[in-house]
Amino acid sequence: MLTQLHVLLSYKCIFECDHCFVFSGPNAEGTFTLSQMRQVFDEAEKIGTVDTFYFEGGEAFLFYPLLLESVRMARARGFKVGIVTNAYFATSDENAELWLRPLAELGIADFSVSDDAFHFGEEVQNTAKRARAVAGRLGMPAASICIEAPRVEAGAAHEKGAAIIGGDVVFRGRAVETLAEGLPRTAPERFAECPFEDLQNPERVHLDPYGHVHLCQGVSMGNMWVAPLSALVRDYDPAAHPISGPLLRGGPAALAREYGVPLEAGYVDACHLCYETRRALLDRFPQYLAPRQVYGLA
Ligand code: SF4
Repeated sequence: MLTQLHVLLSYKCIFECDHCFVFSGPNAEGTFTLSQMRQVFDEAEKIGTVDTFYFEGGEAFLFYPLLLESVRMARARGFKVGIVTNAYFATSDENAELWLRPLAELGIADFSVSDDAFHFGEEVQNTAKRARAVAGRLGMPAASICIEAPRVEAGAAHEKGAAIIGGDVVFRGRAVETLAEGLPRTAPERFAECPFEDLQNPERVHLDPYGHVHLCQGVSMGNMWVAPLSALVRDYDPAAHPISGPLLRGGPAALAREYGVPLEAGYVDACHLCYETRRALLDRFPQYLAPRQVYGLA
């Protein structure tokens, strides 16, 4: 049952992190308009099961008036709200409070701040820590998202034939191009299921400004500017979807096999194989594998 809509308010971000799933960065295009957000809220009410909105990106605070008004609209319609940010704006306690107080007054259920070496290097007192502390003082439940860089786990007990990679990076998006090199690989046939997304009964989807309804980043249920979001959700048939179907039948290995995509000897993880396979299929399924910028293409 779909309960959460995650809005990629903009693909733009001040950072260009190595592990970013959606290739965000200062030059990335695509930002929601206020009227598009209104349309999303109308459709969310029609779906009937959605109770929570997350605002993320990119960096949602780059478009602060739009973020604030969107949160206001969400709360006025009774939705719970979460926000994900890198907190670049928290340059002092006073500034952090200036940006966060209006949001806190609307009632935020979850304020998640990216605070890791990908965003801030080894800087100890960074804006993320400051924003988290200020959010806590304002009564916003605040958490940090800390992604550790991949590393080879020496001596870890593991299933024979499977490489063990520590850290929290998942190899989709920019991580494939920046972090996969030199890591041990596992044979593709071992990746026989999708480890993270419930493609059969998604509880959440990500919405982007181009209208794509992402089941996983770059795997689109359809385009909500072409068909209403509520109709896309109602009519979603996982087995018949050209990407979800094979993934449900046998994971990324089946996706590659069913479409005859040539394989390498090994991949870092299931998402690495999935992402590379989907990239090879982009021109075949432009409606379902979109937008191209999430695959690092113009
Ligand atoms: S296997 Fe594919 S669909 Fe599943 S989480 Fe990884 S990238 Fe997403």
